[in-house]
Amino acid sequence: MGDVIISKYGGSSITSHTDIERIKRITYDNPRRKIIVVSAPGKRDNDDVKVTDMLIKLARTKDSDLFDRILNRYKIVFPDENLEDITAMLDRRLNQNLEGKNDADRESPYKDGIAAFGEEACARLLAKYLGAEYVDSRELFMVTNDFGNAIILPCSEKMITKRLNKTNSLYVVPGFYGCTENGLTAIFGRNKSDLTGAYVAYSLDAMLYEIFSDKEGVLASDPDIVKDPVKIDKITFEEMRDLAYSGFNIFHPEAMGPVAKKKIPVHIRETAKYPAEGTYVVHERVSDLNKPIVGIAYQNGFCAFNIWAFGLNDRVGIAYDILGIFKERNISMEFMPGVIDDISVVLKRNQLKNHSIENIIAEIHSLNDEGIEINFQDDLGCIVVAGIGLKNRKVSSANIQRTIESSGVDIEFISRGSKKRCIVYGVNHSDGRKAVNAVYNKYIRSKTHV
Ligand code: ASP
Repeated sequence: MGDVIISKYGGSSITSHTDIERIKRITYDNPRRKIIVVSAPGKRDNDDVKVTDMLIKLARTKDSDLFDRILNRYKIVFPDENLEDITAMLDRRLNQNLEGKNDADRESPYKDGIAAFGEEACARLLAKYLGAEYVDSRELFMVTNDFGNAIILPCSEKMITKRLNKTNSLYVVPGFYGCTENGLTAIFGRNKSDLTGAYVAYSLDAMLYEIFSDKEGVLASDPDIVKDPVKIDKITFEEMRDLAYSGFNIFHPEAMGPVAKKKIPVHIRETAKYPAEGTYVVHERVSDLNKPIVGIAYQNGFCAFNIWAFGLNDRVGIAYDILGIFKERNISMEFMPGVIDDISVVLKRNQLKNHSIENIIAEIHSLNDEGIEINFQDDLGCIVVAGIGLKNRKVSSANIQRTIESSGVDIEFISRGSKKRCIVYGVNHSDGRKAVNAVYNKYIRSKTHV
C-alpha cells in the first residue's frame, strides 16, 4: 500500500455542501488519494459552534432542540442524503444504558460514544456521497480505556493493514476515536482526529499525509502578534516540535510522532485554495543560507524561580534536589537556564494554581544552610526562534539577542539546546510583542538580514 496518500479533512472544511463537492474534486484529482479521514463538521465562522461541542452538551442536556440542530448541520452539508440512519444512531446512543457508565459530566464511555458520533456520521455520509467504502474506526483502532484521552495500542497497526488492504478501493474513515478491549468507544481527546490519519499513514507506510483545513499552511509567526507573517514552504518535524508553542498548533503535536518515525511527509494545506500548495513538514530539508530562521513562536504564562548561592555550582546534586521539590508537587519544568552559581527554574504559571509559592521558596531555602537567594518572577513570555540554519553561525544567538535588546527589551533568560537549531529568549510578557516583531522584521521579513 506504500504509494497511497492519506487525506484528512478538518471540521472547518466540512461545513457546507460546497465543501463536500470540493472534497470530491480533490479526491478524484489524484488516484493515489485512497483513504479519506474526516472530523465532525466544525465552525462556519467565529461565533459558530463545532458539532463535537454540541454533542458533548447534548449528552448532558438531552435537549431535543439541540438534537435537531445537530442533525440540521448534516442536512446542510449533505442535502441529498437520507439522514434516517444517522438520526436513529444518535437516538440509540443517547438512550443507551451502559450499566453505571452513563456519566455525561465526566469522561465516560457514554460521553465518548456521543462525542464520536460527530465524525462517524460525517464519514458514513461522505462515503455514500463519494461512492466509497465506509470503515468504522472501531475496526482499525484498539485503544486503552482512558475515556476522553484514549491511547492507541500497537496492535492497531495490524488491524489497519489487514482492513484497509484493497489497492483499488477508496475508503472513508472517521477520525478521533477507537475501540476498547470491552468493545466500547473511546475518543483520543479534543482536536485529535489528526492522530487517526497519522497512525493510518504510519501503518500503511503512506507516501504522503495531507491535512486539509481552512489555513493556507504553517505561518512563520503568530498572525495575532506579527502582521501578515509569511507561509513556510518547508519545515522539518524537529523544527515544528521546537515551534510547538502558540500559533503553530495547526497540526496536533501528538500526530507528529507516528509520521515523523517513518519519515512520511505531511502536507498542511487549505481546502478552498486547492491545488495551491501549503506547508510540507518533512524529515530533512536544506536551509537557505540567507534564511536561517524558519519561524518564531511566542507564548506567555511562564514564571521563574531564580536561585543563587555562592558555591552552588559545587554542591553535588543541587539541581536534583531543587527539581525534586517540583516533582513532589507534580509540576513539570519548561527550561532550566543558568550559569555558575545561578540557576532558574522556568515553568508554566498555571501549574502553581494549587500550590503556595512561599512554601516552595521555603523548601528551596532549606536545601542550603549557608543561605540561598531566591527571587520569583511572574508574567514571563518565551520567544522561540527556530531553524536548522541556526547551526551555521551566520546568525548567532548574540545577533538575535542584540536585535531584541535594540528594540528596547530586556532579556530575562536565554536557553539553547545542544542541537543548536532553537533558542528561547525569556522576556517580560509586556515586551513580548515588541521583541517578536523585532526578530521577525530583521530575520524573516527583511531581505537583507544576515
Ligand atoms: N471533532 C473533534 C473535536 O472537535 C476532533 C477534531 O476535530 O480533531 O475535538
